[in-house]
Amino acid sequence: MIEANDPTLQSWVEVPENSDFPIQNLPFGIFRTSSNPSPRMCTRIGNYVVDLAVMNYLSLFEELEIDNEVFKAPYLNDFMSLGKEKTRAFRNKLSQLFRKGNEEAENLSWHFLHPIDKVEMLMPVKVGDYTDFYSSIEHATNVGTMFRDPENALLPNWKHLPVGYHGRASSIVVSGTPIHRPKGQQKPDADKPPVFGPCKLLDFELEMAFVVGQETQMGESVGTNEAEDYIFGMVLFNDWSARDIQKWEYVPLGPFLAKSFASTISPWVVTLEALDPFRVAGPKQDPKVLPYLEYEGNHNFDINLEVEIKPEKGAGKVVCQSNFKYLYWNICQQLAHHTVNGCNLNVGDMCASGTISGKDPSSYGSMLEISWRGTKPVDMPDGSQRKFILDGDTVIMRGHCEKDGVRVGFGETSGQILPSK
Ligand code: CA
Repeated sequence: MIEANDPTLQSWVEVPENSDFPIQNLPFGIFRTSSNPSPRMCTRIGNYVVDLAVMNYLSLFEELEIDNEVFKAPYLNDFMSLGKEKTRAFRNKLSQLFRKGNEEAENLSWHFLHPIDKVEMLMPVKVGDYTDFYSSIEHATNVGTMFRDPENALLPNWKHLPVGYHGRASSIVVSGTPIHRPKGQQKPDADKPPVFGPCKLLDFELEMAFVVGQETQMGESVGTNEAEDYIFGMVLFNDWSARDIQKWEYVPLGPFLAKSFASTISPWVVTLEALDPFRVAGPKQDPKVLPYLEYEGNHNFDINLEVEIKPEKGAGKVVCQSNFKYLYWNICQQLAHHTVNGCNLNVGDMCASGTISGKDPSSYGSMLEISWRGTKPVDMPDGSQRKFILDGDTVIMRGHCEKDGVRVGFGETSGQILPSK
């Protein structure tokens, strides 16, 4: 067991019950305050954001010999580039400093602790390239059933490779950023020409994404057994989708403007080290995969996920409860497949999982599936109905793991839909 994950550890910082951020988590992010508007690196315990630039200034990490600039950088990319050995050692050091009994750190804490409601969380990572996979067999089956043939819902390649496409990095934003309803071409009537206007079938996709922490050179491939050395951690990921635009534009090259207008991520990058206790075996893969996709060990994670839709006025409703562990293709297979052709990785690249649906309809990860193309509207507490997302709605995604009395989570990613500009 990684010592920093010991379930018996307690912090001198008060951690409320059911917090996603006990001392066993120690995620990383970027924040600023009104009194110091420079973006800088932080972690979180309970409801406090920890200013790591100030802790470093106070020489609390001295023996790790990490350049001062890493903590004052506006993104985590430089920190991730230090490599797993250093970032692991840093997490272990934080765990020691925040453990009950560490009076040196506790006595200095008024310099570096900020209540979460007094800070602004920013994009944690400078995303270079963004890839979206399609790794949930339940989601791919549902979509194939709806739009093609229920008997042959999966296309012939699906069980042989983790299907994916290259997405748009510039429009990935941090939780809390409002999103304007996209406009575009649609073809609602098969017998009439296409029309232009605001998307009418706006959807979310419940996903998680991993962040690349080590670069590779062109021509190099990363095997499944080394893949985790290149993955720094994970975030929640909402792949906003315009279904009517998507339906008309996606043939034959795949998603384009229906996806590129926005994706929303959670501000906290939870490290693979913090997720280690929550590993589980993935689904059995049949037929057998090609040798470069074979793997050893457990690379799925038991992460409870949920999606809530909150109308502008009135109570919200949880419309989906799913789990990251359902994914057919794991993150190591995704990374091995991504690099098998020699495509190089850069620090900060982001790879999303694809919509994470389970078998039960209550676990479907998009409105497309939940409302089954709009044929089964969802009743909201205020008496209204949802087939897709309306202007004013906020979509909130949450995720956490729980085991041996320890809860490690991601907080939330939230985004409100505003009318088209
Ligand atoms: Ca997607």
